[in-house]
Amino acid sequence: MVVRADRGTELTAKSWSTEAALRMFHNNLDPDVAERPEDLVVYGGTGKAARDWPSFDAISRELAALESDETLLVQSGRPVGVMRTHEWAPRVLIANSNLVPDWANWPEFRRLEAEGLTMYGQMTAGSWIYIGTQGILQGTFETFAAVANKRFGGTLKGTLTVTAGLGGMGGAQPLAVTMNEGVALCIEVDPHRAQRRVETRYLDEVAADLDAALSRVLAAKAAGEALSVGVVGNAAEILPELLRRGVAVDVVTDQTSAHDPLAYLPVGVSLEDWQTYASTKPEEFTDRARVSMAAHVEAMVGFMDRGAEVFDYGNSIRGEAQLGGYDRAFAFPGFVPAYIRPLFCEGKGPFRWAALSGDPADIAATDRAILELFPENEQLARWIKMAGERVEFQGLPARICWLGYGERHLAGLKFNEMVASGELSAPIVIGRDHLDCGSVASPYRETEAMADGSDAIADWPLLNALVNTASGATWVSIHHGGGVGIGRSIHAGQVTVADGTPLAAQKIERVLTNDPGMGVIRHVDAGYDEARAVASAKGVHIPMEG
Ligand code: NAD
Repeated sequence: MVVRADRGTELTAKSWSTEAALRMFHNNLDPDVAERPEDLVVYGGTGKAARDWPSFDAISRELAALESDETLLVQSGRPVGVMRTHEWAPRVLIANSNLVPDWANWPEFRRLEAEGLTMYGQMTAGSWIYIGTQGILQGTFETFAAVANKRFGGTLKGTLTVTAGLGGMGGAQPLAVTMNEGVALCIEVDPHRAQRRVETRYLDEVAADLDAALSRVLAAKAAGEALSVGVVGNAAEILPELLRRGVAVDVVTDQTSAHDPLAYLPVGVSLEDWQTYASTKPEEFTDRARVSMAAHVEAMVGFMDRGAEVFDYGNSIRGEAQLGGYDRAFAFPGFVPAYIRPLFCEGKGPFRWAALSGDPADIAATDRAILELFPENEQLARWIKMAGERVEFQGLPARICWLGYGERHLAGLKFNEMVASGELSAPIVIGRDHLDCGSVASPYRETEAMADGSDAIADWPLLNALVNTASGATWVSIHHGGGVGIGRSIHAGQVTVADGTPLAAQKIERVLTNDPGMGVIRHVDAGYDEARAVASAKGVHIPMEG
């Protein structure tokens, strides 16, 4: 069955709020959006939109029938109840993949999953606000820009970045590097994934073999040209080989699906045998994957020792490599403490929106609105312009840009006005990744190395979900295990619909103030002066400060 979101202004559901949830749910499974739609897998290893096909049908049916004072409850991808609430309440409340901490490990999760009792929701897969690889592109672009600022005088021109994994998220890396004027060599074990990135213009080309790839990237590096080249092979073999050959690499990172050892292909296992081997002998497969990750990370550390900028890109590969027996796995930092935390202190994070009309002209109009709203922000302007020119939409047209506290609600209110005036042809949904400033506890990623050591405190994402529910978000979700895997993170999401009504404006103002506000208070609480400065300049009320 091929699933695609409806387009246009005709409603299947009873209101734009529920129509929005229905379209975004279906959009997550659009073959142009999802990595394995036939299995309901959207991205990030096995991140799914619904538990199984009967659940998919039931969610679709319930959303179409839901009234404006009802709320659908979704438990790990399965609709379990519809309750009478009120018009300010979310239309959907979602809890995905949550387990009591002592039981929160992959073997137990998989046992429950095999029994049909749970589902892995990743971050935006099970909360229906995945917008394809663009969703991560700006964050990836910002990260590589931060690397360029830190080490290479503000540009990656004349540098070579080596990374692995060209999946749903990792596929953003080559374009983010070339947008920063650098050269990228991307190792991917599955030729179809690599080819898909070429088709969507995220990757420039796939080389026939490693020698061909090296001659292309080294020539481009010498000439100062931006270029991205994919090479098909196993990162745990190719990266050590690059180190052995003494290739002059400037930046090394990785976005294979290391968070889930069954989604990382060990050396010596063929692509064809992968799924059967992983499902029939998960423990043996896990051990082998970890040994390969140890070799992979050892090569990353080798490049670090030779002076390259090396960072973990949020997939837990250091933790898995340590379990695989490599004791220097944590020698290099995660990307959040290295580059992103100052942005989180300002309540900045991956704000995103999609045009329910399906009309790219609506996104072009919102792009112009963003440029007019924030004329002083040059980096934002550079991003919006490049995204307009270079990003291929997947599924419903959408856009992402990082906005902070005091900015997001202005954008949301503007979009709502544009819907009301008819400047946009249909409502807009406004959401974000769970990887945001105040919505996640993840000690190997978003909350790694917090100033006060509060990395594993998970009250914050729960408060985030509660405050978004109390503020009028259209759907709210609480997930476990996204990004870095089961047992390692708890996070929350919200999506709010701008349907052009005065009620939507009130909800948007509150949600898009309070949601990033959680980022400011979380970082003030942890002792960050940058966050204190934002709180006092923008009037965030924090009871025990000052
Ligand atoms: P994905 O499952 O869509 O893609 C992973 C890719 O890695 C696949 O194409 C797979 O073939 C490839 N791969 C697996 N083993 C390999 C090996 N040994 N050598 C080379 N390639 C191999 O996952 P995704 O959505 O691209 O996410 C990738 C990782 O990044 C996940 O762990 C995810 O949790 C994490 N992530 C990070 C961020 C961030 O902002 N840093 C955001 C989202 C996801």
